[in-house]
Amino acid sequence: MSGRTHARACPERTCVGCRERAAKKDLLRIVAVEGDCVPDHRGTLPGRGAYVHPALVCLDLAVRRRAFTRALRAPGALDTAALRHYVEQTVAEQATP
Ligand SMILES: [Zn+2]
Repeated sequence: MSGRTHARACPERTCVGCRERAAKKDLLRIVAVEGDCVPDHRGTLPGRGAYVHPALVCLDLAVRRRAFTRALRAPGALDTAALRHYVEQTVAEQATP
């Protein structure tokens, strides 16, 4: 399995919630800042990033299996309250026509 193709035009990342691959632009990048999971919607924050669909199901799955802590190599549990609030807002905005 050495022949991995790199589609540079459309980079893919794995959602830490549902574990499905998706286009990077369809996922929300998360970075750990001082013990908090911070949504990096511009993709500009430094450090390791974890990717998740901006959906509550994926967020809850990721939180339940501590996927952010693992993906971001955090030394302890990360606070996801602010992130959850952000995703809730995003979902609410998308639901409004
Ligand atoms: Zn997902």
